Amino acid sequence: MNHIEEILIATGNQGKVREIGQIFSDTPLRLRSLRDIWDTIPEIPETGATFFDNARMKARWVLGRTGAWCLADDSGLEVDALGGEPGVRSARFAGEHGNDTANNAKLLRCLQNVEVEKRTARFRCVVVLAGPEGEYSAEGVCEGRIGFGPRGSEGFGYDPLFIPDGFSETFAQLDADRKHAVSHRGRALQALRERIRERI
Ligand code: IMP
Repeated sequence: MNHIEEILIATGNQGKVREIGQIFSDTPLRLRSLRDIWDTIPEIPETGATFFDNARMKARWVLGRTGAWCLADDSGLEVDALGGEPGVRSARFAGEHGNDTANNAKLLRCLQNVEVEKRTARFRCVVVLAGPEGEYSAEGVCEGRIGFGPRGSEGFGYDPLFIPDGFSETFAQLDADRKHAVSHRGRALQALRERIRERI
């Protein structure tokens, strides 16, 4: 089997590009982002019913236009008291153009009368690497609970409300290294790295 020499990261999010770069930094892999190859980042369809469908859809979409090995991820928050919501709708929980502040406010409102023991939740991330000679996927989960108000200013999304198991701080109170050591995305990427070990 041929080695994978270069991976195109199918995201316009520079934070994700940085994190993926850190995880593969001790390998010979060359990583490029969509910003390196396109002047404007197109809207990549993600209309699937699951994180896996969406990650695969994005990776294949970019593979189809570039012929390169493409890595895409999809992630979200599953809150037990809400039956697993917002899940794949995490980015648009508070509306189609929902922003982080509105999403967090809605989540707090939905959990208004929910006591601490019942505020359990998890972040889930699925990564798919699609290429000319195959496809690999991996999943990472980070268990935790939803706080009673926002704390911290690092990170993005639901970070100010999410307290990972084993911590008293929210994700937004941890620096990037501490977050990614336990985060869903960090774990999914490490698992993917293991899966393609023989090809890099
Ligand atoms: P996507 O994987 O970039 O589509 O992210 C989906 C949504 O899930 C984001 O817009 C956030 O609302 C939420 N999310 C995913 N990962 C994280 C995280 O690490 N911290 C906070 N929110 C996240």
